[in-house]
Amino acid sequence: MESLAKHPPTFLDLLSRPLRSLRLSVTDRCNLRCQYCMPEEEYVWLPRKEILTLEEVSGLVDIFAELGVNKVHLTGGEPLVRRDLAALVTMIARNPRIKDLAITTNGVLLAEAAQALHDAGLHRVTVSLDTLRPDRFTALTRKDAHEKVLNGIKVAGQVGFKGLKIDTVVIRGVNEDEIIDLLEYGKQISAEVRFIEYMDVGGATLWSMDKVFSRAEMLEVLTRQYGHVEPVAAVSAAPADRFVLPDGTVFGIVASTTTPFCSTCDRSRLTADGTWYLCLYAQHGIDLRSPLRSGASKAELISTIVSVWTRRSDRGAEERKEIRSRDVLVSVEGLRQDPHLEMHTRGG
Ligand code: SAM
Repeated sequence: MESLAKHPPTFLDLLSRPLRSLRLSVTDRCNLRCQYCMPEEEYVWLPRKEILTLEEVSGLVDIFAELGVNKVHLTGGEPLVRRDLAALVTMIARNPRIKDLAITTNGVLLAEAAQALHDAGLHRVTVSLDTLRPDRFTALTRKDAHEKVLNGIKVAGQVGFKGLKIDTVVIRGVNEDEIIDLLEYGKQISAEVRFIEYMDVGGATLWSMDKVFSRAEMLEVLTRQYGHVEPVAAVSAAPADRFVLPDGTVFGIVASTTTPFCSTCDRSRLTADGTWYLCLYAQHGIDLRSPLRSGASKAELISTIVSVWTRRSDRGAEERKEIRSRDVLVSVEGLRQDPHLEMHTRGG
């Protein structure tokens, strides 16, 4: 056990993918209602008593870190609506095995939270921003909070966060006309912009293939504007393919819908109630809360996680791509019956 503690092993799944990156959904609640993620009027929330405490979350993170996880991304729902998030960051940041501790946020509460998160030891911030137009933002998210998001991004830079990223879901007929503007905005604020294809994940009940603005189309728009766009050689299992413009600007494209990257996916997801998912498209997760709360030993939890990961063979996005008449992944009724199927529950 001592050598396991000093040198985390590499556990490979059946497709030789290591257990490396954990996305922690710290809450299923969100303060926006983005039409590609939470378009319904009503939602079924996880029962409060089932939400893991900060100690339970950080205890599980420590176990995952012993098994090779070195990247933790806080997400949700909207992670900044979870009270005491900075305290959780402090707990996780103490673990020397975690080399990359980041948050993905919609930015609405970022201006207020940025200093405390930086002080707590958070390494990086990614802000989801789909438009530079306030009216479009309100139509897309059902909240008039565009200015707050832009201010949040500014304050994140002011308190000292480096390596800021902007994630933009590009949807045909909604914001594909802003690709250049968003890239230029990224340049201005020294942030790397990543364009994300609209995915048919749980919760995306308005999805259809004709609304997907593909990676090929994005590259066409960018090439027309900037000239030659050069791919950057991949150095990690990051979901975005990275490209560089003639002026040196780097941007990414996450093309899970048309060009899935399952073969290098090292991500798994832990929901706020302690259910562990091996794939964004998975229909079932592994309940870690019950054993944790019924007093399972660390060795037992390790054994469960290792045995699940080493049998993993999910290729969710690739399998979706093979479907000819691709439609919404889960019906509204299905989402009500099991809110774990929602993107905002399992963490984007
Ligand atoms: N609330 C946080 C945020 O907005 O970044 C974290 C959770 S959100 C679910 C994480 C990411 O998932 C966001 O960048 C969001 O745009 C993305 N997302 C949600 N639904 C999506 C969909 N149907 N297709 C592509 N990306 C999606």
